Amino acid sequence: MEPAAELKCDNCATPTPKPFRCGAKWLCQHCKEMWDRLSTVVLAPNVQPPPKPSKGPPVWDLVQFDMLARDKMGASKYGVRLQPFNGRDALRDAYEESLDLCVYLRQAIFERDGK
Ligand SMILES: [Zn+2]
Repeated sequence: MEPAAELKCDNCATPTPKPFRCGAKWLCQHCKEMWDRLSTVVLAPNVQPPPKPSKGPPVWDLVQFDMLARDKMGASKYGVRLQPFNGRDALRDAYEESLDLCVYLRQAIFERDGK
């Protein structure tokens, strides 16, 4: 006789003997409580068609242009271009920048979609 498959929360993967059905997912107690508070404003599943050609510029080109501008701005602001072993904790800086990125992205989605 095989052991029963371990049930895990669909949102956070925490082992959950008795998950709660919330929408299309099975959630642990913690995620269920978040779902109960936020279910009216959570994002719908990301179901999109593949990208198609358009008349817009390649986004990678836009990003490269912006990166060059940031490099020049940083060099002007700090008097030196970003280099390794500069006395900063790059992981910490990147982590904190990514926290800001996430909230700005979520703000923009909420402002665009109203949820
Ligand atoms: Zn969970």
